[in-house]
Amino acid sequence: MRDSQGKIVGIVGISRDITVRKFIEKDRVRLMQKLALKNEELESILYVTSHDLRSPLVNIQGFSNELVRSCDLINSALKEQLTAANASKEVRNALKKDIPQALSFIVTSANKMDTLLNGLLRLSRLGQAALNIEPLDMTAMLADVTKNIEFQTKKAGAKINIEKLPPCRGDSSQINQVFSNILDNALKYLDGSRPGVINISAEIDNGRCIYRVEDNGLGIAPEKQNKIFEIFHRLEPDKTKGEGLGLTIVRRILDRHNGKVWVESELGKGSTFFVSLPSE
Ligand code: ADP
Repeated sequence: MRDSQGKIVGIVGISRDITVRKFIEKDRVRLMQKLALKNEELESILYVTSHDLRSPLVNIQGFSNELVRSCDLINSALKEQLTAANASKEVRNALKKDIPQALSFIVTSANKMDTLLNGLLRLSRLGQAALNIEPLDMTAMLADVTKNIEFQTKKAGAKINIEKLPPCRGDSSQINQVFSNILDNALKYLDGSRPGVINISAEIDNGRCIYRVEDNGLGIAPEKQNKIFEIFHRLEPDKTKGEGLGLTIVRRILDRHNGKVWVESELGKGSTFFVSLPSE
């Protein structure tokens, strides 16, 4: 503070106690480390359980298939006795209907469980795979991904347009998997009533590359847009084939890359999937 002649007559200072802020920051780092450890622990539980549950399941599948064959054998060996008028109705029903039906349920359920366990196993392996982070030429990568799905694209009568894309940083094979999964879906969930068009473009925003895969397919209702990233979640399981794992894998890969994935969509019009990754 100066007087009217400009002489210093006093000094005002502001001091702020940052002890609390420092404490909060330390606590945040500690919690993040704890979370990372818990995550690793969960991943290894996932791996061990899905791996170990598969061996008894293989037995269930093998032996139930054997029972199906034995049941067919008994049925054809006892053909005449079973059709004879004096054959017990219960025995006939058991051999001709109840046992084959129960076995068919067992086989279907065991196969379904096998698919689910394989999916879990794939997911946990993904979390353990080493990452080789390097600069990625995304225009070349997307050209490669679209070349690999040329057959499905032709079959769907669709057209894929790719703009020049900025490079980013990531693990080549895992980022390739991200875009393969998103493009597979863009083709799979097109609307048969109009020619499919898929546009791939990108922009740089604040040191991040934001890639866009836009389709003019079936679209996703707003309340379901978060659900599609959940494991095994499928919107219309009876209409198309799939495991409900593709987008979970995409999200998992991007988590490990400090990346993000999200969707904007309108039912009946189409969807745009956004992928954000650190720029080169
Ligand atoms: P999958 O394709 O095997 O079902 P995903 O995890 O890849 O598994 O996708 C989950 C669900 O999200 C799909 O079953 C589908 O209902 C929906 N979905 C994904 N991509 C699109 C898309 N481009 N357009 C419309 N629906 C989509």
